[in-house]
Amino acid sequence: MAARDLAGYRVVAVHAHPDDEAITTGGTLANLASRGADVLVVTCTLGEQGEVIGETYQHLVADEADQLGGFRIRELEASLAALGVRGCFLGGAGRFRDSGMAGSPSSEDPRAFVNSGKLAVDLLAEIFTAERPHLVLTYGPDGGYGHPDHIRAHEITHAAAKIVDIPRILWTVRLAAETAALLPDTAPEGWRLPEEGELDGVERADVSMLLDDHSYSAKVEAMRAHATQLWIGDGRISKTNPHAILAAGPVVYYSLSNLIMQPIQRVEHYQLGAGAPPANPDEGLFGGLER
Ligand SMILES: [Zn+2]
Repeated sequence: MAARDLAGYRVVAVHAHPDDEAITTGGTLANLASRGADVLVVTCTLGEQGEVIGETYQHLVADEADQLGGFRIRELEASLAALGVRGCFLGGAGRFRDSGMAGSPSSEDPRAFVNSGKLAVDLLAEIFTAERPHLVLTYGPDGGYGHPDHIRAHEITHAAAKIVDIPRILWTVRLAAETAALLPDTAPEGWRLPEEGELDGVERADVSMLLDDHSYSAKVEAMRAHATQLWIGDGRISKTNPHAILAAGPVVYYSLSNLIMQPIQRVEHYQLGAGAPPANPDEGLFGGLER
């Protein structure tokens, strides 16, 4: 365990759905928390429109029992426990609903997060006022991969930062070349490799965090907790999935319900969204910020 060299720093991560906190920023959050920073994950929806991996909980989906959102609260709690961080839902659990993929009818629901208007901005500004974060993590203007709720999370974060001063906002990104380099030539049976350009990825980052073993394992465990959404290829079965996949390579691999193989990177990258950049990238995410 690292020294508590970040005690006194506060971080808020604004995420769209349960599982985004683990997939995109899990290692960073675990690392910062283990070093004494106070970390809060704000999740904006319950992820009700998600697909479900495996048979066990298949009928919970929105078009059938519509019970997935409540179920995913428990998955998120287990993920946050693995990361060692606090969490809350924007406006309380169930206030805003998953809007679904772009153009889907679920985006017309008045409770859909894309229709959250000024209310969501004010609710997030209230959280920023109470937490006074030095650093806020969220997605870039394209939401990372274009999901309307991710774009909305970006929008409300920057709108709330106009109400409450935030010293630094960072956008989580993946480096396309790094992702490609970590993928093997063939996928294990049951999965497939991504097509060219199928995964999100950018060419450069402003600040990066190399994960120590503790933070990396915490991230993998947090992702494992989202068993209806993520299939971890580490040779272990899960509650939702009786089929073990062992994907060999330099990192652990996972897939979403689309069964496209993706690496769980040992480095998490960020672009500067607002505020001053770290004076020296080696100083880490808080570099140059007064605690
Ligand atoms: Zn998401």
